[in-house]
Amino acid sequence: MADIIQLLPDHVANQIAAGEVVQRPASVVKELLENAIDAKATSIQLVIKDAGKTLVQVIDDGIGMSATDARLSFERHATSKIRTAEDLFNIHTKGFRGEALASIAAISHVELKTKTEVIEIGTHISIEGSEVIRQEVAVVPKGTTISVKNLFYNIPARRNFLKSNPVETRHIIDEFHRVALAHPRIEFIMLNNGSPVFNLPSSNIRQRIVNVFGAKTNEKLVPVSEETDIVQVKGFVIKPQFAKKSRGEQFFFVNNRYIKSPYLHHSILSAFEGLIKEGTHPGYFLFLEVETTSIDINIHPTKTEIKFDDEHSIYAMLRASVKHSLGQFNISPVLDFKKDSDLDTPYNLDKMNPVAPTIEVDRNFNPFENRNKQGDIRFPFKRDPSTSTTSWEAMYVGLKNEESQLDLDEIEFESDEVSGSLFETETSKPSKTTFQLKNKYIISSIKSGMMVIHQHLAHQRILYEGLLKNMTVKEAISQQLLFPLKLNFSKPDLAIIKSIQEQLEHTGFSFSSFEKNILEISGIPVSVSENEINSVLEQLISDINNELPDAGFSQNDLLAKSLAKSLAIKTGAQLTTEEQEHLIHQLFACKEPMVSPTNKPILMTLDVSDIDKKFN
Ligand code: ADP
Ligand code: MG
Repeated sequence: MADIIQLLPDHVANQIAAGEVVQRPASVVKELLENAIDAKATSIQLVIKDAGKTLVQVIDDGIGMSATDARLSFERHATSKIRTAEDLFNIHTKGFRGEALASIAAISHVELKTKTEVIEIGTHISIEGSEVIRQEVAVVPKGTTISVKNLFYNIPARRNFLKSNPVETRHIIDEFHRVALAHPRIEFIMLNNGSPVFNLPSSNIRQRIVNVFGAKTNEKLVPVSEETDIVQVKGFVIKPQFAKKSRGEQFFFVNNRYIKSPYLHHSILSAFEGLIKEGTHPGYFLFLEVETTSIDINIHPTKTEIKFDDEHSIYAMLRASVKHSLGQFNISPVLDFKKDSDLDTPYNLDKMNPVAPTIEVDRNFNPFENRNKQGDIRFPFKRDPSTSTTSWEAMYVGLKNEESQLDLDEIEFESDEVSGSLFETETSKPSKTTFQLKNKYIISSIKSGMMVIHQHLAHQRILYEGLLKNMTVKEAISQQLLFPLKLNFSKPDLAIIKSIQEQLEHTGFSFSSFEKNILEISGIPVSVSENEINSVLEQLISDINNELPDAGFSQNDLLAKSLAKSLAIKTGAQLTTEEQEHLIHQLFACKEPMVSPTNKPILMTLDVSDIDKKFN
């Protein structure tokens, strides 16, 4: 039998390669935009006609090409970006395979106009199906304009396989977003069928995200920023309450290259676990920087999948940094990053030196879990008339009378074990070390002296953290009313309530109708009594009306603050010792027990040494 193997002609080889690189017009968009970036353009314009089926044009102000380079750029494996095999492991450019232009030119009509800085005159080349039709000089500005027309004109099967214009346009916009987000410093303009779609000026990452996805995005962003030896992570995640039903804004960039990674995506999912509703997807824009030698980009023709040397560490690091950010911005109740006392112990020992309260702090204690077991978050213990007669105020009065008989040593060294013994009288129960002052402050003895807690502010903090958690985790308990409560509101006020209906429902409210001026409420949070509802909602409406638009505060935050303020036990409310202790217990289970949601100090401590000075 005669020999049957032959080498494929170049244009056939190019067409086959094109099958891998160019699936649809959006692939052309990606390759051309990336070439413009590699050419150090500062401004890039994308022009699309007929969803890219008729025209994809990219105009850049980059370094341009000489006449010879312009011709060579369409050859297969022609690239200016790598020279040796070693270079493959140290890639700093988007392209390097040298096959995009060759592939595109094999399956379309291409016009290239280009000029470098130093050469006076530019070059104009026309190619059809890998064949150079024309090459001439041209008067053009510095930079490159590539027009790709009639894509797949010579492969009818591929052309027919393309989806409808809206679908193909969507793919193009997706590619445009990916490239534009990865390069915020470059100006990008996009025109579709003659009308402008995007006009993105040079900016920082946050502004770029907002310019691409709209002004409302700004308040949804939570910054993420961590650095380790192997990877640096920057960027933003979308606050859990804005998680979308559709898989929308999910972007990983590695060394400014958009990549797809189901594995790393999973690490973000796990960071958001418990914070978003089932069936919704977290949003993220995360920029990873790694050593170019620690990744392999060469495993996929479109270079959207890469291989990391140390994928597991990157997974863990990503998950931890996203959790950390969600926690820091008070969105997630769980923190597990960098065991930092500042963040996840109930209080900061450095600042509160030394504060070891005489109560045990159960770090896993969650006031909102098993509320029935723990009791109502507002008044955790039922008032018992017999305990109120033993209130510490009364005992303190008695104590004063016997002042002269007191052993000072006992005060100074009061500890968990002996706490209470000092104050034991016939009428008191043992081991109580708190008392209420003026129905306003709770005084507790601590190792170093005493602590004074503002009861109203402390309770605000407790409620605030619980409400925020309810809103993000969405597990509030509602008490259903026997008869729906009907309240009158003005139309604008009713509209405000309607606009935050979902968040209110996460705190335990349920609404049965919003007719005319009447709001019908069928369920309320367990922590609110029926006759308070009106004032609570009115306070909320006024807080929302007074709130200046501030990107730093989410609606959830505002809502939690407002509800906490109106629901917290008031100054003047008498508390039993059990209630006082429970309040302290809950306070120190909070993430930030030192300051109220509105940034007022909740407590102060007085050292015995300070008291001693008074007696010198
Ligand atoms: P690659 O980007 O992988 O090198 P391409 O086929 O995309 O391969 O491009 C081939 C070469 O053409 C590039 O290496 C570059 O030197 C040149 N080139 C392509 N587009 C441009 C452009 N917009 N400006 C300047 N040079 C370009
Ligand atoms: Mg390229």
